[in-house]
Amino acid sequence: MAFSSLSHLACTKCGATYDVGPLLNVCTKTECAGALFAEYALASLSRDDTAGRPRTIWRWHELMPARRPEEIVSLGEGGTPLLHAKRLGAKNAMPRLYVKEEAGNPTGSFKARGLGAAVTMAKALGARKLALPTAGNAGGAAAAYAAAAGLECHVFMPADTPKVFRIECKAYGARVTLVDGLIDDCGRMVAQKKDAEGWFDVSTLKEPYRVEGKKTMGYELAEDFGWTLPDVVVYPTGGGTGLIGMWKAFGEMERLGWIGSARPRMVSVQAEGCAPIPKAYAEGKDVSVRFENAHTYASGLRVPKAYADYLILKILRESKGEALTVTDDEMRRGVNELASSEGLFAAPEGGAAWEAVKKLVAQGKVDRGERVVVFDTGTGYKYVE
Ligand SMILES: *Cc1c(COP(=O)(O)O)cnc(C)c1O
Repeated sequence: MAFSSLSHLACTKCGATYDVGPLLNVCTKTECAGALFAEYALASLSRDDTAGRPRTIWRWHELMPARRPEEIVSLGEGGTPLLHAKRLGAKNAMPRLYVKEEAGNPTGSFKARGLGAAVTMAKALGARKLALPTAGNAGGAAAAYAAAAGLECHVFMPADTPKVFRIECKAYGARVTLVDGLIDDCGRMVAQKKDAEGWFDVSTLKEPYRVEGKKTMGYELAEDFGWTLPDVVVYPTGGGTGLIGMWKAFGEMERLGWIGSARPRMVSVQAEGCAPIPKAYAEGKDVSVRFENAHTYASGLRVPKAYADYLILKILRESKGEALTVTDDEMRRGVNELASSEGLFAAPEGGAAWEAVKKLVAQGKVDRGERVVVFDTGTGYKYVE
């Protein structure tokens, strides 16, 4: 069997299909510009065949885009622990509370999964220079994988992003531009310059492979739960890449017969100061409206409008999920509770996810006996300023 069963790309909006060969960002059909998904000719594959492999995102290589092992640029991303939060669970009468702990990834966040896959494919398909906007962690991950791949990397970040993100990008050899604005302003600058500079834009969901790296969280959840899925997945949402990716993974696993048709309720958590998804979901909208004056110290959540908001909202609806906000003070409390009860110094985004669980329980939307997974998406060490 081939190393990868990647067959083509398909537009998530209009369904147009594309060959894998040329470097592509989004659907090129006029007026569409939808996010592209990697599609696989799913040959039959037993989940047992993957069992003995190293626990990285490439464990699932038949369902990952790299066409040959030599193409892979890896720093050991993925394969993170699913921790049973026994003490926090006991305190809250939630015996089946779990934390998917992503802080141990290279560069300290789950962005390593996405950028590991995206940089692998960009290099394999001939890119020499990468560029991206970042709210923080994506820049560091892109810079690290670009360094490992021997590619140039140009990072655009808001000027008020914590200094550590800039320092790490520069250490990895990336060129950093500080922008007086938010991540979407940074994205516009990349879009304006990329053709003249010969940059390949690796903005999330504006290229097909970051979501492939992040979907592996879905495979890992299923494997760690004995090929079942939890009742509720609580996901701190910026661009929504992981939420979209896991949903894609669930579909792929069902087609392979690895899991059944049951799905978790997917919960999108955002900051009160930047909440385009909860707002759109509450209003029953298919797309979000840019959230003005976006502010929160959880930089990963400071995304005023996600490019693939239409996919996030569709998944929330399909899964009968929820979208809600927490304040920055609540996030700080959540971080402290995860640290003092479970020994996890979470990113504010992880603190947000835990706080959201308590709110959903209080509102009667999550039952204390349900199997709930909180995503701690990164390390708290980068936010100590
Ligand atoms: C980027 C980021 C998020 C949001 O991730 P998406 O998949 O883009 O929604 C959450 N937490 C942290 C720590 C991040 O860096």
